[in-house]
Amino acid sequence: MSESIKVPFFRPSIGEEEIDEVVATLRGGWLTTGDRARRFEEGFCAYLGGDVEAIAVNSATAGLHLALEALGIGPGDQVVVPDLTFTASAEVVRYLGAEVRLVDVDPETLCLDPAAFEAAINERTKAVMPVHYGGLSCDLDRISAICTRHCIEIVEDAAHALPTRWQGRLIGSHGTAATVFSFYANKTITTGEGGMLVTPRRDLAERARIMRLHGIDRDAFDRFRKPGAGWRYDIVAPGFKYNLSDLAAAVGVRQLEKTDGLCKKRATIAERYLDAFADLPARLPVRGEQGGHSWHLFPIRLNADAPLDRDAFIARMTELGIGTSMHYAPLHRMTYWKERYDLKPEDFPVSEDAFTNLVTLPLFPDMTEAEIGAVIGAVRDTLTAGRRVAAGG
Ligand SMILES: *Cc1c(COP(=O)(O)O)cnc(C)c1O
Repeated sequence: MSESIKVPFFRPSIGEEEIDEVVATLRGGWLTTGDRARRFEEGFCAYLGGDVEAIAVNSATAGLHLALEALGIGPGDQVVVPDLTFTASAEVVRYLGAEVRLVDVDPETLCLDPAAFEAAINERTKAVMPVHYGGLSCDLDRISAICTRHCIEIVEDAAHALPTRWQGRLIGSHGTAATVFSFYANKTITTGEGGMLVTPRRDLAERARIMRLHGIDRDAFDRFRKPGAGWRYDIVAPGFKYNLSDLAAAVGVRQLEKTDGLCKKRATIAERYLDAFADLPARLPVRGEQGGHSWHLFPIRLNADAPLDRDAFIARMTELGIGTSMHYAPLHRMTYWKERYDLKPEDFPVSEDAFTNLVTLPLFPDMTEAEIGAVIGAVRDTLTAGRRVAAGG
C-alpha cells in the first residue's frame, strides 16, 4: 500500500484563516506595509514574551543585513559564521564590505562549535552569527560567554528557530543584539517570503526601521494616517527596500497564531521517526531540551556501515516516491566562498563529514498517517536491506 504513495519533501499548512485574512486585506485597499504588518510585529513581540522590538521585513536575508548594518559592521570588520548553513547567513556580511570567517560546527548538534568560534577570533572580529541548525538551539551560554570576553555582538540566524527554546526561553528573547526569523515558504511559519528582525535595543530597532524603507525617517503609513503629517519626510541614509507588504503580513498574522500547534504536530512526527529509526545505521538529530526543538528539519547522517551511501540513498528514496533535501552543502565547497577565502575541506572536518552522509527527510505538520508510514517504511527498508543480505551471506 505504502508503495503507491508519493510524499513531497514539504507542503505548507495554509488554512481558511490565512485565505480570509488575505482577501480582507485585498478588499481593505491598503496593500503595502500598514496595519497588518504592525499587528504581525506586535503579535510577534507578544509571542516571544520578551522586552523586544520586532521589525517585519521581506526576507530573513534582509533582516540579517539590516541587523549587521545597524551594528555598524563594515569594511575591515570580520563576522564569524558557521560553515554548515545557507549562503544567506554569510552573504549579508559581504553586502557591507566586511569579511566572513567560516568555522566548523559541533559534531553532535551541527550548530556553531563554540571552541572553533573562539579560536577564530581576532582584533577585527565584530560579530558572530550562530545558526540554530534545523531548529535546535546553539549553545547560547558558551557563545555569550565568549562574546562577553571579547566584546563581540551576537546576531542569531533564527531562520529555523520558531519556536526553539534555550534554557526554557524562546530564541529571540535572550538579549542578544538581534535575532532574525524567516517566513520563506518552507519555514516553520510562512508569509510566502518574509522575515522578522527582533532586538531588545532601541537604537538598533530605530536604525533598522529607517533602513528598511529607503532611509526615510518615518514610514509611509504614518505619513498618510497622522493628521497634519502631510507629505513631509526626510532621508537620513541611502536605505533599502526591505519592508513586508500587508498582503504577506496578513498570512503571517494568522500563521503566528498557529505556531505552537504546528510545532506540536512536527514534534510528534519527529518522535515517531526517532523511535522508528533508532536501530538503523544512521545518526539521528538530537532532541535538545524538552519541548525546545522547532523540528524545522529532520536531517539524518548515514553511518559508514549503512548499506548504501548518501547519493544512492537519495536515489532510492526518489524511486520510492519520497522527497528529500540536503541541509547543507557546506559553504567551503561553494566556488565563491572557496575562492575568496582559499578554503580547504580539511579545515572543516565536521561539516565536510556531515555533508558526505547527510540527507533531510520530509517533516511537515500536515503529513498524513499514510505519508508518515511511507517515509518510515521506505527509510527502514532501504537501510536494513543490505544488512539482511550481509547476514544471509
Ligand atoms: C531560509 C534561510 C535563510 C534565509 O531566509 P530568507 O527568508 O529566504 O531570506 C537564512 N539562513 C538560513 C539558515 C535559512 O535556512
